[in-house]
Amino acid sequence: MASMTANVLRLALAGLLCGAIAAPSVAQEEKTAKQLFGAQTLPNGGAANPIGFYAKGCMSGAVALPADGPTWQAMRLSRNRRWGNPAMISFLKGFSGDAAQLGWGNGILVGDISQPRGGPMITGHASHQIGLDADIWFTPKPAAPLTVAEREAMPFTSMLDKSKFLTVDPRRWSPTHAKLLMLAASYPQVERVFVNPAIKKKMCETWTGDRSLLGKLRPVYGHDEHFHIRLFCPPGAANCEKQAAVAKGDGCDKSLAWWFTKEPWAAPKPPDPTKKPVKPRQVMLADLPKACAAVLAAPARPGMADALGANAANSPVVPQPSEPVMSGEDVPLPSPRPSR
Ligand SMILES: [Zn+2]
Repeated sequence: MASMTANVLRLALAGLLCGAIAAPSVAQEEKTAKQLFGAQTLPNGGAANPIGFYAKGCMSGAVALPADGPTWQAMRLSRNRRWGNPAMISFLKGFSGDAAQLGWGNGILVGDISQPRGGPMITGHASHQIGLDADIWFTPKPAAPLTVAEREAMPFTSMLDKSKFLTVDPRRWSPTHAKLLMLAASYPQVERVFVNPAIKKKMCETWTGDRSLLGKLRPVYGHDEHFHIRLFCPPGAANCEKQAAVAKGDGCDKSLAWWFTKEPWAAPKPPDPTKKPVKPRQVMLADLPKACAAVLAAPARPGMADALGANAANSPVVPQPSEPVMSGEDVPLPSPRPSR
């Protein structure tokens, strides 16, 4: 009897030890989805396929926006986030030409699109995961092309007067800014255009053209130095999850007025000291659509490394006149955060 108890104890102890050794090492080795997708430098092959939702998914068969085009330049090349669904890349090329025609400088400066295989990112952005979101700077492409180094360092210009609460700075905003946003909203493949609430308000107060498209301009935190274009799921993209349609009307209503209350800007409540702090759970690969594991595991599409050429930090740097002043892109989001 005594020896049996001892055996049971020994077994129990062995179990405890195994548990104590094995469990934490597995947890440490398991990388988060943003670490896995953030480590990808090239897209996989196969057909272009947005998988999942804008804020929870990945992308197969991405193509890169060339770093330089006649009416665009891609910014912050070191981030390697100029990959998108072909529908987004061809949209950006067309939009950039139309923007230049409109009088928006020599075209557009393009910020982040997506990582080579989409997915969550280590820094910035809840969305941009399926190659159908792109950020456009509120600064036109200058006449003299920006060097790679300038594209890294050029600061952002906010359209807001930061000495006031949610107010567009009339010294920076112009009717061409307004026309550019409405041009973006005018394409049938554009689903939403995200802008700062102050910019949406300015548009509501001043836009005298067709107001039926104003509803596509959606107010959200940040987005005062760039605006964000979201495309509909392309036709036939069976794994792409649609977003609920924007409400009818121009959106110059209660939903906009809410942004000018205290609620969206209130500091998060301090944690309850009587409760154990809850660590926010990280998004893991298993949380994304199943097909994203195959996207991650697939070999890189041959020939794609060339697209990275212009990302090289050692590209020749030609001195250029300095550019206007701006501030950081990845604005921390206060809570609560409404659905976009
Ligand atoms: Zn964005």
